[in-house]
Amino acid sequence: MFDNLSTKLDRAFKTLKGQGSITEINVASTVKEIRRALVDADVNYKVAKEVTDKIKDEAMGRDVLTAVSPGQLMVKIVYDELTELMGGEKKDILIKGDPAVVLLSGLQGSGKTTFAGKLASYIKKQNRTVLLVACDVYRPAAIDQLKVLGEQIGVEVYAETENKNPVEISQNAIEYARKNNKKVVIIDTAGRLAVDEQMMREIEAVKKAINPSETLFVVDSMTGQDAVNTAKTFNDRLNFDGVVLTKLDGDARGGAALSIRAVVEKPIKFISTGEKMEALDLFYPDRMAQRILG
Ligand code: GDP
Repeated sequence: MFDNLSTKLDRAFKTLKGQGSITEINVASTVKEIRRALVDADVNYKVAKEVTDKIKDEAMGRDVLTAVSPGQLMVKIVYDELTELMGGEKKDILIKGDPAVVLLSGLQGSGKTTFAGKLASYIKKQNRTVLLVACDVYRPAAIDQLKVLGEQIGVEVYAETENKNPVEISQNAIEYARKNNKKVVIIDTAGRLAVDEQMMREIEAVKKAINPSETLFVVDSMTGQDAVNTAKTFNDRLNFDGVVLTKLDGDARGGAALSIRAVVEKPIKFISTGEKMEALDLFYPDRMAQRILG
């Protein structure tokens, strides 16, 4: 992950460090190289421009030209700006209510159901009782998939195979959770291959009816700028609370991780890095920036 970006940034810093004395022109050309590296990593052009303009301003404001080790100062400035770009502080999910309800949204194949299992397992480890809800009324296979995951992690799965109304199913599931002392309800909704109006209306209705404490948007990071655009479309309709980036283990470029926050203005909260239930991490912008800079 981020291999190319790391190599290119490293090269840009090495060139800068190799200069005898640093001039404004050297800084400008380093900044240009950084911008190109970001765009090559599939970062939205506008975002890449904004962040590199900030890096340039910082470099001039913090006197990189006269610094004892300008190269190192430049690395620190880039680290700070990348951290900021990805959201600054780590943002946790809000588990509030009795039961607390977490609603999952996203396209089919994004890794939503797998994430539902991972999140349930994560919450269970915090000694909270969890109920997983299969709310995909179009694909019976999705219900079975969730049941298999539930069994694997020891979490009960609520499903109504005959009911085709996701609003009713989620309301009934919350009622069931209340009666059966489940403190957190995770609702896995239907995903489609592309954004469509019916799907949006359906999930909007579910959100309105159940008022979740947390609505998450799950997206495949390997789809790069498409991931960012889909996130924007979902957010316009759903006003979600956070993003889950999946398949980061297969994402060589990292464009979605770098630009989703700036474009959508919602934090990435979790990253998924594999198919196994344990492959889930909270998203730490500073650690990610560190990883990029090697
Ligand atoms: P859904 O249609 O959104 O519910 O997607 P699924 O949860 O069924 O996931 C689609 C495919 O992606 C499955 O084969 C998962 O095993 C796989 N998958 C999910 N998350 C990850 C991940 O973080 N890394 C990798 N490599 N595969 C993943």
